Amino acid sequence: MVINGRWQSRPVTISVKPNCLTVSVDGPLEASVFSYDYAGRMWTALLDGISYRRGLDGKIIAKWQIAGRERNRRWLTADETRQVEERARSTTAGLYAAITEGHAELLSPLPEEGRLVFERAIAFDAAKSAADAVQYHQVYRPVGILPPDQYMAVVLQATEGCSFNTCNFCTFYKDRPFRIRRPAEFRLHALAVRDFLGAGLSLRRTIFLGDANALVIPMPILLPLMDVVHEVYDVASLGGIYAFLDGFSGDRKSVSDYRALAARGLKRVYIGMESGNEELLKFLQKPSRPVEVVRAVKSMKAAGVAVGIIVLLGAGGHQYAAGHVNDTISAINAMPLDMDDIVYFSELIVDEGMDYARAAFQANLSPLTSEERIAQGQLIEAGLRFSEQGGTPHISRYDIREFVY
Ligand code: SF4
Repeated sequence: MVINGRWQSRPVTISVKPNCLTVSVDGPLEASVFSYDYAGRMWTALLDGISYRRGLDGKIIAKWQIAGRERNRRWLTADETRQVEERARSTTAGLYAAITEGHAELLSPLPEEGRLVFERAIAFDAAKSAADAVQYHQVYRPVGILPPDQYMAVVLQATEGCSFNTCNFCTFYKDRPFRIRRPAEFRLHALAVRDFLGAGLSLRRTIFLGDANALVIPMPILLPLMDVVHEVYDVASLGGIYAFLDGFSGDRKSVSDYRALAARGLKRVYIGMESGNEELLKFLQKPSRPVEVVRAVKSMKAAGVAVGIIVLLGAGGHQYAAGHVNDTISAINAMPLDMDDIVYFSELIVDEGMDYARAAFQANLSPLTSEERIAQGQLIEAGLRFSEQGGTPHISRYDIREFVY
């Protein structure tokens, strides 16, 4: 339901949806817009032309664009985070007070659920926000990364870490050893996540089984873990279960295994293939061969499970570029992809502490610029061919710097 009105001589718009409340107040130059989940957590904000997104861990990323330039982003400091939250809260509180005291004109009355979220958002002050972030860290090992279409998932960590942890460009799970949760522990975790999200669960779509490659779990353990998910959550109404798998272990599950997982709600598996070029994968210390990824994808698709294939743009610099482009095209073209699938192009972002940076220096690799990485993605995309019956997968950018959970 959308309610228009005026407050302090400015147009206001209040949108009350079954999963979030959005408040927009026009300003002299730009509107200020805030959205909240049903637990009262600020979710997004737009202030002075800068957009903000708050993660469940309480951190906020700011994003802005200057015309003709690349999009910018920066994580806010703790002080800046408090300021943005407080600005959102005080505007929302001022508007709500005016509504209840009859000083704001609304074209239709605010429904009861709208009042409820207003009151929760106003009560979500700095102390509550800090306590919420503490609870996040009690419930989760920090969620390392998700595919972009899963940022709004309910993440359930069936495993912690990555069973390989060798890839020299990846630092997401260096802080934790790999381990699989047993069903009893996983049930407590799933319940704790549900309790933490509270009424904010309604904003979440899908269930994501974390961490890095949860589907590496052997079937005799994985199936009971999937059953736990169903005990605690209404999987169908949340839109099914999603997970990562490295290309190597994926080969080890059969079509009938994937059918059993699909019957328990598995919808899509994301595979960080990175490249179709074996030499480059060796350089990246990725224990995977493209032929194994292709075979795993065929098994998943035969079982009715969709896939998301992630390609690492710029990997191996100019020296590997031709092989990377040609072999990645060949590998993806050998997969029976269709309109249910996704191909993600993720730019390699190197920071000095990465093993990749040292290996690239030792190998005297010349890196691709951001423009060259994007051009590499376009070159790969131009070589992809999909069947007419199945349709074209969604092809999208995957910028790990914008990950928020
Ligand atoms: S398999 Fe994936 S999560 Fe594990 S180290 Fe490699 S890139 Fe990182």
